[in-house]
Amino acid sequence: MVTAYVGLGSNQGDSPENIRQALRKLDCNPGVSVQEVAGLYKTAPVGYLEQDWFVNTVARIETSLSPDGLLKLLLTIEDELGRVRTIRWGPRTLDLDLLLYAGEVIDSPELTVPHPRMQERAFVMVPLAEIAPDLLIKGQRAEQIAKILKKNQEIVGTGQKVW
Ligand code: ADP
Ligand code: MG
Repeated sequence: MVTAYVGLGSNQGDSPENIRQALRKLDCNPGVSVQEVAGLYKTAPVGYLEQDWFVNTVARIETSLSPDGLLKLLLTIEDELGRVRTIRWGPRTLDLDLLLYAGEVIDSPELTVPHPRMQERAFVMVPLAEIAPDLLIKGQRAEQIAKILKKNQEIVGTGQKVW
């Protein structure tokens, strides 16, 4: 078993419910156990701006799946919850990203870990810092990175827990 972190986001349909169902599906897999999930945050969209705000959170899991196996599971859950891929960075019922997998560095055509943009995104770093403030990302504490990103990216903690 290794520890991994998964980022969850949604801005279509009942977003908190989509995230709750995704966590349930993850935890139902025999190779995955959900350990801790941050509260839900509302965040302004990045990239394609003509869309609703997102709901985001981050989960810590224990897994016996390989990085590729875990990515496949995440993509399957996205499909099961009805994600339709249209515009890049556009609206989605569910986005699941593999942020960190043990301490591994992976750079294959399908999978990059640590997720290459995580340390620039408040919607990843703020919930991550809630459950793992002392985690080091490129030598810097998650809490410190989150504090800086919060200053110029719109993110609001809702206090709502779905796990
Ligand atoms: P984004 O999450 O950046 O908005 P998408 O979810 O549409 O974009 O991109 C999904 C694709 O990104 C997947 O098909 C997957 O192969 C690739 N990918 C590469 N690294 C990762 C990762 N760490 N987590 C999730 N998907 C990844
Ligand atoms: Mg994704």
